[in-house]
Amino acid sequence: MLSGHYLEFHARLSPVFPPSRLLHDELSTLAWGTDASFYRLIPQVVVCVETEEEVVRVLAESRRLSLPVTFRAAGTSLSGQSVSDSILVVLGGAWKRHRIHGDAARISLQPGVVGAHANALLAPFGRKIGPDPASINAAMIGGIAANNASGMCCGTAQNSYRTLASMRVILPDGALLDTADEASRAAFRASHAEMLGRLDALARRAKSSAPLASRIREKYRMKNTTGYSLNALVDFEDPIDILQHLMIGSEGTLGFIAEVTYDTVPELPCKASALALFPDIAGACRAVPLLKACSVDAVELMDRASLRSVEGKEGMPAYLPALPGGTAALLVETRAADAAALGDSVRRITGALAGLPMVRPLEFTDVPAEYELLWNIRKGLFPSVGAMRRTGTTVIIEDVAFPVPRLAEAALDLRALLDAHGYGEAILFGHALEGNLHFVFTQDFGAAREVDRYAAMIDAVTAMVVKKYDGSLKAEHGTGRNMAPFVEREWGAEAYALMREIKSIFDPAGLINPGVVINPDPQAHLKNLKPLPPADPIVDTCIECGFCEVHCPSKNLSLTPRQRIAAVREISRLRVAGDDPARRSALERAFRYAGDETCATDGLCATACPVGIDTGKLIKEMRRRGSTRLSRAAAALLARHMGLVTRAMRAALNGVAAAHALLGTRAMLGAAGA
Ligand SMILES: Cc1cc2nc3c(=O)[nH]c(=O)nc-3n(C[C@H](O)[C@H](O)[C@H](O)COP(=O)(O)OP(=O)(O)OC[C@H]3O[C@@H](n4cnc5c(N)ncnc54)[C@H](O)[C@@H]3O)c2cc1C
Repeated sequence: MLSGHYLEFHARLSPVFPPSRLLHDELSTLAWGTDASFYRLIPQVVVCVETEEEVVRVLAESRRLSLPVTFRAAGTSLSGQSVSDSILVVLGGAWKRHRIHGDAARISLQPGVVGAHANALLAPFGRKIGPDPASINAAMIGGIAANNASGMCCGTAQNSYRTLASMRVILPDGALLDTADEASRAAFRASHAEMLGRLDALARRAKSSAPLASRIREKYRMKNTTGYSLNALVDFEDPIDILQHLMIGSEGTLGFIAEVTYDTVPELPCKASALALFPDIAGACRAVPLLKACSVDAVELMDRASLRSVEGKEGMPAYLPALPGGTAALLVETRAADAAALGDSVRRITGALAGLPMVRPLEFTDVPAEYELLWNIRKGLFPSVGAMRRTGTTVIIEDVAFPVPRLAEAALDLRALLDAHGYGEAILFGHALEGNLHFVFTQDFGAAREVDRYAAMIDAVTAMVVKKYDGSLKAEHGTGRNMAPFVEREWGAEAYALMREIKSIFDPAGLINPGVVINPDPQAHLKNLKPLPPADPIVDTCIECGFCEVHCPSKNLSLTPRQRIAAVREISRLRVAGDDPARRSALERAFRYAGDETCATDGLCATACPVGIDTGKLIKEMRRRGSTRLSRAAAALLARHMGLVTRAMRAALNGVAAAHALLGTRAMLGAAGA
């Protein structure tokens, strides 16, 4: 039940938003309380916005009533930055428009466009967007830009920060700025002179201190998404350019991104890959600087535990199980404009690595079926841990970066530290060219002792990354709540003070995604941990990544597969614990339509799920279990007369086909729509 200011917020927005886009019932708020991270916050109100005017209106009401607001795109964030216990502003089914400029050197994208869709639009021109997170098939432009997400190939040269051309942004005070439009820039300069003056002063302060300016530049030679994009202060002169680059990586804490225009990058058509296998991780890391000097597009490091996690799985190379104990792999990809250039590149790489000890001879392949097989090893790593974990535990992927020349030492240190904290089963892999290592492990947050063990390990990792290597604590995934307590540890007091000022310049009332990026609570990363109780073996391996959502036919009508699973988990938890029967029956009642009756059970979700879950199968199973005596009798009758039923259905479908031939597609579409 809403109360206080939330009740008033709801009342004031009710005339503007239809009930289907202004939600506050038990089931919807629970369903929207989950993102891909291991944090849960249940919003009081969920607002699905479709236009800039609606965003401005929501921000105005939130300001008037001092209510915090969090923006949500696809909710695939891993650090807890897209959940809220206040107002969650969701992009809904809108924000999908795009404009391709000229010969596709630029593309303007609304924040609800899925990254892979943007690339599909650009593919005919031989172009793509720069940022390439592994989640690109689900993640949306709003989240990609706000997290400054990146992946295997884009490095630090082609991320959102580097490829941003212009942006439409709505600031927390409701002002709209279009940085591509000179009139909008001029109007903004007049209306926000004080704000721009403060940003300018901050930039001067950063530039005038040589040690600070060089520290900022140095830290962005590595991948870094810890804290705000301080490089904006030293890279640009015009405060409006500073402003739009600060929005990149701001994790929805500085304002709303209503459109991004990217400079696109070439998508080279010819590719070759090789799996280079070294006797140990130090050997693999020593090869990285040699590869960096060649024309390589991706170099993915995988330790022995990673390779072991996928060996024996369908489609994996047969030699994996027989590899010696310490083996480490570099999966190398090179791309070129034509076959001749590709051949040159392969020869150069092979030459550079010649003489290094390897477990198997180095062999490049440019046959798509063969290199896709190699890349399936890498793609299978995270899901394999997710699928094999004990029910009730969560899977965590951490994301640190080290200076490349010290990668070997750092990887060994990290392994030893994980072992010392009882995380021996963790797998270690990452984007070696950037010194970016991910470690994936399973974690039980159900017992205080386990939370303490996690806390001790994170404390040790952050100390090691910062003090020994001056690395980054979040290379790609954003600070969120997970690393917010450690931003000052990584950056130091002077740079952290700049970040706090940035937040107060944009959002003086602190209402936009509070607790994310800047959080004074040293224990914030250990609070609001998400329970993952057992619900049903069909879905217990779900990691709530949200990759299924983009394919779900009911996503804009009721619930998505991830949300169905979150609801089933909570209902099951309440049932087992015997807690709050009123809440349980409210959830069960609401689930009947939103979870059950509107699920198409078509299995499309399984095609995108990294652990292969078909949520439709769960719903069918629930229907079977919940079926009444009458429906069982009807089913039995149907089964006894299956031949007759099939003949009748065939006749009916033939009738539809005949009507289609007679009336044409337009009339049929109209009739079907009606
Ligand atoms: C299995 C898996 C693999 C992943 N691999 C990668 C990877 O390789 N590289 C990587 O960088 N990340 C990766 N991620 C993390 C995540 O997918 C990316 O950061 C992604 O870009 C987030 O996009 P999203 O649409 O889900 O955004 P959301 O999670 O919805 O939001 C992300 C942030 O942006 C803010 N936001 C959203 N829309 C707007 C807007 N319009 N205006 C202002 N702020 C907004 C939100 O408040 C939030 O802070 C991975 C995640 C998973 C689950």
